[in-house]
Amino acid sequence: MDKWSGRVAVVTGASSGIGEAIAESLVEHGMTVVALARREERLKSLAEKLQGKKGKLHPLKTDITKTEDITTALEWIERNVGSIHVLVNNAGIVIKKSFLELEDEDLLRVFNVNLVSLSIMTARVLKTMESANIELGHIFNMSSINGHISHPLPEFVSYFASKRAVNAVSEGIRSEIAASGLKVKVTNLSPGVVATEMLSNVGLDKLPPGFLPMLQPKDVVDALVYALSTPPNVIVSELTIQPMGET
Ligand code: NDP
Repeated sequence: MDKWSGRVAVVTGASSGIGEAIAESLVEHGMTVVALARREERLKSLAEKLQGKKGKLHPLKTDITKTEDITTALEWIERNVGSIHVLVNNAGIVIKKSFLELEDEDLLRVFNVNLVSLSIMTARVLKTMESANIELGHIFNMSSINGHISHPLPEFVSYFASKRAVNAVSEGIRSEIAASGLKVKVTNLSPGVVATEMLSNVGLDKLPPGFLPMLQPKDVVDALVYALSTPPNVIVSELTIQPMGET
């Protein structure tokens, strides 16, 4: 991880769960982390908690479904912290409803946060990486084990579909980047169940005790740090991690 110390990382959805844990770890590894989310107070508390660590966290209130917010955030980053080397597209939401119950607004929200905003962030940041001529960059896209399985849980179809599309974005941009000669790695992250607010919000945390030892956010962080730590010529393209016992 030494090569990333002092470099700039942007983490979306850094106000809770996996994104918060990733932002925290990257700061501990000496990176300058710009933490994006809507819940500004949480971002500010995280910044305070991390004062005195090797790196630094900048909280930046951003709704990634608003392109004007993305523009403002990227302009602020360019002016105040410099070129982005690592982008972690982590923000995501889930809505638990059958397709018959889903309102238009539900579908738009899931696809906007999980797929459209991730794609816009990626396209915008790739352009900044190219114009800054960075020597090495890394983009992480948060998919899910649900983006790979062929038997999705009922009531989560929109989430599953959005995550499958995230896989396609990761695979597609990896090929384009290879062809362009840009030195940017792309890693698709696909965790199984992780104990976070997302699961509790849809009641998926109420499994019988001992039934499934869920992953903790730190397990996902460890996988990401492994992918970041590989030599410049090695790309960890897909990282699928699951708790023991998950099918
Ligand atoms: P959390 O609900 O804890 O975190 C979701 C994050 O996304 C929050 O920080 C939230 O911030 C942010 N977010 C949501 N909407 C927006 C928005 N419009 N603009 C900016 N930020 C937004 O859940 P997890 O940590 O579990 O989820 C993180 C990622 O991991 C998601 O992509 C999820 O799909 C994925 N994942 C989770 C798994 C699990 O079992 N928990 C398994 C596999 C993948 P705020 O509300 O402050 O804006």
